[in-house]
Amino acid sequence: MITFRKPLEGIERPQMEADVVIVGGGPAGMACALRLAQLIDEHNAEHPNPEEQMSKENIYVLEKAREVGQHCLSGALLDPRSMRELLPGFENEAPIDAEVTKESVWFLSSGRARKFPFVPPPLRDHGNYVISLNRFAKWMGQKVEEAGITVFTGFAGSELLFDDDSRDPELARVAGVRTDDKGVDKHGQPKANFEPGYDLRAKITILAEGTRGNCAKQLINRLGLEDPDHAQTYGIGIKELWEIPAGRVAKGEVIYTLGWPLTTREYGGSWIYGISDTLISIGYVTGLDYEDPRTDPHHVFQDFKQHPFARRILEGGKMIRYGAKSLPYGGWLTMPRIYGNSWMILGDSASFLNSQRLKGIHLAIKSGMLAAETAFDALFDNDASADTLSEYKAAVDQSWIFDELYRIRNFHQAFEHGLYEGVIRAGIQQVFRGGNLGPDYKNHAAYLRMRHQDVLNIHDEGRDRILFNAKGDGKLTFDRLTDVYHSGTRHDDDQPVHLVVKDLNICSDRCAKEFGNPCQYFCPAAVYEMVEDGAEGGQLHINFANCVHCKTCDIMDPYQIIDWVPPEGGGGPNYDGM
Ligand code: SF4
Repeated sequence: MITFRKPLEGIERPQMEADVVIVGGGPAGMACALRLAQLIDEHNAEHPNPEEQMSKENIYVLEKAREVGQHCLSGALLDPRSMRELLPGFENEAPIDAEVTKESVWFLSSGRARKFPFVPPPLRDHGNYVISLNRFAKWMGQKVEEAGITVFTGFAGSELLFDDDSRDPELARVAGVRTDDKGVDKHGQPKANFEPGYDLRAKITILAEGTRGNCAKQLINRLGLEDPDHAQTYGIGIKELWEIPAGRVAKGEVIYTLGWPLTTREYGGSWIYGISDTLISIGYVTGLDYEDPRTDPHHVFQDFKQHPFARRILEGGKMIRYGAKSLPYGGWLTMPRIYGNSWMILGDSASFLNSQRLKGIHLAIKSGMLAAETAFDALFDNDASADTLSEYKAAVDQSWIFDELYRIRNFHQAFEHGLYEGVIRAGIQQVFRGGNLGPDYKNHAAYLRMRHQDVLNIHDEGRDRILFNAKGDGKLTFDRLTDVYHSGTRHDDDQPVHLVVKDLNICSDRCAKEFGNPCQYFCPAAVYEMVEDGAEGGQLHINFANCVHCKTCDIMDPYQIIDWVPPEGGGGPNYDGM
C-alpha cells in the first residue's frame, strides 16, 4: 500500500502576511526579486520622507532546494542581454566559465558525421557565455539577499491558496501559497519533528517554479489558462559533465548535432559546450512528443555517446556529474495567460523559451524583471487586481521577448511530421517572419501522440537503439542508477511518495496492455518499476528517492494520472556545477 503526499488536514497552520511571495529561486524568480529590490531602493532614495518609504521586509522567495541553485540545471549558454539590463557590468563578478568563440553544427547518421557548411543564424553563439546555471543562480541568490530580500531555502510551494471557489480567470484571486509540511512519515503520519507548512498570505503571488511548475499547473488547470488548441509541448535534456584530455574541445567551443541516434521521426539533438580545455557539458534533448512508448531518453543519450563523433571526444575521460530536466518547447502560442488577480507566472513555467536557439535563461530573467516592474506599481498603488497586473503582459508584448518569440511561434510545431518536412516548413517560416502558408499550427498535448504498442512494429529497423535497457559499460555509458548517484540526489526515505499516481489499477491493467508502462522508460532516474506479483500486468513500484525532479512523468504519462508534487523541502538533486 503506497501513501502519497498531500497536505495534512485538520491542523492549525502558522499564518504569515507578505507583500510578494515568489515561488522558485531560479533565474526568473531571482531576477524578479532583484529588480523589485532595485525599484524600491530607487523609490526610497527619491522619497526620503519616512511616510513615503516602501519596505522590502515582506517580500520572500521560496526555494525548494536546500541551497539556492541546487535544483538548477541547463546546458548552459547565457545570452547576456537581459543580465546587462538587470545588472550592467555583471560579467565582472558573475560566475562565467567562458565566452563562446567557436561553433559548429553536425548531422550524424550511423557511424558518420557531416559538418554543416555554415552555422544557421539561430545557433550562432559568439558573445554568449558558457555558464553553470547552478552556480549562476546561487550567485543571483546572493545578490538578492544582499539587496535585502529574504530567501527561504528548503521550502516548497505545495499548494496555492484562493479567496473563493471561482474558476473564472477574471474573478478568481490567488491569496498566497502554502509551504510543504515537514516531518511526515511514509504512512502520512506526523513524526516527532513535525512542522506544519506555513500559509503565506500575499498581496501578490509570483510563480517561477521552472518547467511544469507544481503551483503553476494547479492554477492553469483550475482556471483553464491553457488554450487546448495550443497545448504546451516539452523536451527532456539529459546532461553529464565530463573531464576530458586537453585538445579535444576548446574552452568556449560550442558543438550541436542533429540526427543519430534519433530517427528522422523524432525531434531532438545534442550539445557539447567547452567549459574549460579539459571540462565539457554534454547532453541530448529528446522531444517529448514521440510516438513509440518504449522510447527511452536516457538510452538515447547513452547511445549518442557511442557514436564515433562523441566517442572520440569522451574516450579516456571521466563522467563526473549527471542530471535531467524537462523544458517547454511550445513557444509563444502555448504561453498560458500569465497574470490575474494577485498572480503572475514567469520563466519556463510560462513558456519563455526559444526552442530554435535552445535558450531560455535570458527570457526567464527578462520576464522576471517585467513582472517586478508591474509588482512594484501594484504595491505602490495598493492594487493587485488583474487589471493592474495586466501591465505585465502588455510589457512582455512591447519588449524584445515578443520580437524574439513571435517570429518563431510555429517553429517546433513545424516538425510534427518529422525532420525533413520540418526543415521545409521552418524554411517557409523564415520567409514569412514566422508565419506559415496557412494559419498558425495547432498543437495538442504531446502524450496524445503516443501510440498503443500493438500498432507498433517491434522490429522497426533502427529503433532498437533508442529503446529501453541501457546497461552501460561503466566508462563511456552508464545505467540510470549510476547516473543518479552522480546527480547527488537525496530524499528522506521516511516520507510519503511525492509522485502521486491517482489510480494504480490503470498501471497494472490498461497501461500494461496498451502502452507497456512507458514510465519505466521515460523516467531518467529509474523511479518506476513494474514488479511481477503473480497478477497479470505486475505492480508499480515507485523508487521516489531517486527522483531528479525533471517532471517528465507528469508530462508524458499517457493517462495523465501522475502528479509530481514537491517532496519535503530540501530533498532532490544537488546539481553542483551543472
Ligand atoms: Fe523525472 Fe518523474 Fe522520474 Fe522524478 S519520477 S525523475 S520527475 S520522470
